[in-house]
Amino acid sequence: MRDRLFYLISKYNLNPRKDLGQNFLVVPDIIERNIERAGVSEKDTVLEIGPGLGVLTDPLSKRAGKVYAIEKDGRIIEILQREYDWPNVEIIHGDAVKVPFPEFSKVVSNLPYQISSPVTFKLLKHEFEKGVLIYQLEFAERMVAKPGEKNYSRLSLMVRAKAHAELVERIGRGAFWPRPKVDSAVVILEPKPRKERIELSENLVKALFQHRRSTVAAALKKSSHMIGADKSTVRRIIEGMPHASKRVFQLSPEDVLEIENHIKNEGMPLNGI
Ligand code: SAM
Repeated sequence: MRDRLFYLISKYNLNPRKDLGQNFLVVPDIIERNIERAGVSEKDTVLEIGPGLGVLTDPLSKRAGKVYAIEKDGRIIEILQREYDWPNVEIIHGDAVKVPFPEFSKVVSNLPYQISSPVTFKLLKHEFEKGVLIYQLEFAERMVAKPGEKNYSRLSLMVRAKAHAELVERIGRGAFWPRPKVDSAVVILEPKPRKERIELSENLVKALFQHRRSTVAAALKKSSHMIGADKSTVRRIIEGMPHASKRVFQLSPEDVLEIENHIKNEGMPLNGI
């Protein structure tokens, strides 16, 4: 696998693009483990974002019923089309942030780090069973952080509202070529059953997390413009608001939902709610 990757790179004289996060996996064990973790079978339609030179796409195609691989780099698309003859892989040439995702049951990818955040939020808007995803370590740690922890952020809260996320393996930079400047990690993402998922006002969450170490009351005062309210309205609604004295980084999605409901009950229209 490693040999094939370097063979293709030299055959096509491919210069990896940093701006597209082109760090290719060169450790077969990691690929195998991730496919195992995803439990891919022929019943599955797998989405892969950023197939690169196919190190993950190839074994996925052997196990899955169907694979959709979204790739932005035209040079890579050309190589994949020339070098592989996968009967069940559909390559989509486009930007994974912009192109609509097809229906899929599992997502397995070594993600380009630049688009980790928009892709994760986009994935969470879809129905699927399981994701096994490689992220930059620091991003993965924020994804799985619990309320009150050091890395707990807007991302942690929004992921927690919709899914179970677990960091299952750290990966050193030597597992990629070219070697990136940061370590990586594998995250398993499992959307919660529909009735347990919590829809939150993104505006409210953004307004709160602008001031993650402040109390909820102080954060809302400081971010009043972001929720379309003047300061006196915010002062009024803070009275009797649940969790007003908690620090923002201690809030669970359920807490934010209670805050949101309180604001709505007070008759204040939040922007975008
Ligand atoms: N899966 C391959 C591997 O593990 O060796 C490649 C992974 S590499 C980290 C990320 C891949 O995503 C590259 O092939 C890159 O061209 C592609 N990519 C970068 N930005 C993208 C985007 N916005 N949409 C789709 N693919 C993108």
